[in-house]
Amino acid sequence: MTVDTAAIDTLVGDGPAAWDAAGRIPVEVLRKLGAMGALCPEVPARFGGPGADGLAGGELTAHVGALCSSLRSVMTVQGIAAATVRRFGDREQRRRHLGQLTGGQLACVGFSEPGAGSDLSGMTTRVRPAADGTDDLLVSGEKMWITGAVYADLILVFGLYGDGPGGAAALVPTDAPGVLVEPVLDPLGCRAATHCRVVLDDVRIPADAVLGGGGQPLSLLFTTALSYGRMSVAWGCVGILRACLAAATADARTREQGGVPIAEHQLVARHIAELYTSERIATQVCRHAADQWDRGAADAAVTAVLAKQVAATHATRGAATAVQVLASRGFTDGHVVSRAYRDAKAMELIEGSTEISQLILARHALGTA
Ligand SMILES: Cc1cc2nc3c(=O)[nH]c(=O)nc-3n(C[C@H](O)[C@H](O)[C@H](O)COP(=O)(O)OP(=O)(O)OC[C@H]3O[C@@H](n4cnc5c(N)ncnc54)[C@H](O)[C@@H]3O)c2cc1C
Repeated sequence: MTVDTAAIDTLVGDGPAAWDAAGRIPVEVLRKLGAMGALCPEVPARFGGPGADGLAGGELTAHVGALCSSLRSVMTVQGIAAATVRRFGDREQRRRHLGQLTGGQLACVGFSEPGAGSDLSGMTTRVRPAADGTDDLLVSGEKMWITGAVYADLILVFGLYGDGPGGAAALVPTDAPGVLVEPVLDPLGCRAATHCRVVLDDVRIPADAVLGGGGQPLSLLFTTALSYGRMSVAWGCVGILRACLAAATADARTREQGGVPIAEHQLVARHIAELYTSERIATQVCRHAADQWDRGAADAAVTAVLAKQVAATHATRGAATAVQVLASRGFTDGHVVSRAYRDAKAMELIEGSTEISQLILARHALGTA
């Protein structure tokens, strides 16, 4: 099964500007995209997914990213959930949860906490036995900035398992007693993705909600999940750059100042050249990372960090360049380049900020990783 980008375009239509203004994507659009397998394209066909390889899944992510970074953000968290189930779930968990995630149910992912952002080893959320003679577990903690939590049926919670030090990744229904979802008001960008505080107050889950039974090293759990997220965000940045390049070139060809199209002014042409260069660099670094990923290369995780770092930096700069080219025409809230300008900044913060990515890359280069 391949995902039909024309069907995605039809479902999205001219929604993104209005979604951004409203801070919401219609949930039925998300469910339809989910049921097409479009939100987690790498899930294999035997689990109901499209079975895309890293490159095809990445190009699809870039396509969605060019349309709407909020939608791409929801796609990224759904993809992280699916990738984590594939990596850590047992046979039955894969069958059940991948079926849900390609069948129209929506997931979000909770790593961050008030005291644990860049340093996820500071997580305090716990998944511990209920101690009432049942096999049930109780999940307690507070997660911050959880993308898409208002839409999600499930939250993939990362936390400590029992008394630690091992970790757990547990799929918790968002309508379970003890789950509170509170949207963050007025985020700078990716507004329609929604970002939420999620409080988990002794939420009771069955033992089989914990992927692979729990007790895995916490850092292995979140590094694996973040690697998928980094690839997805990087491809989303390629989409931002493609949308900005298309808008800037169209405007520069048609807008006339001084009796000629502004593209003929060399300083504007330089902006176009820089945007084009950014799009090409981001695409190439993502293709390289996708290839390493598909081949199971030893440095696949670090190439994902590299791709996210390079693509996010170029997307932030490229979106600002596009606003510069369009000037006042791109300076209204719903415009594709003004959305890109706000949305791109988030890409330098998430899945490892620029600084954290640089530290990882430096350690890799120094051989001290
Ligand atoms: C739009 C958006 C969507 C998000 N979605 C999700 C989500 O779905 N799920 C989720 O769990 N979280 C999500 N997050 C949270 C995100 O992962 C964190 O914001 C990110 O990890 C950074 O953490 P922080 O904001 O607490 O910043 P901090 O960790 O407090 O960092 C603040 C600054 O200090 C720098 N810094 C920190 N430590 C170091 C260091 N050791 N060396 C050098 N510099 C350092 C950082 O780079 C940053 O510049 C989202 C955030 C945003 C903005």
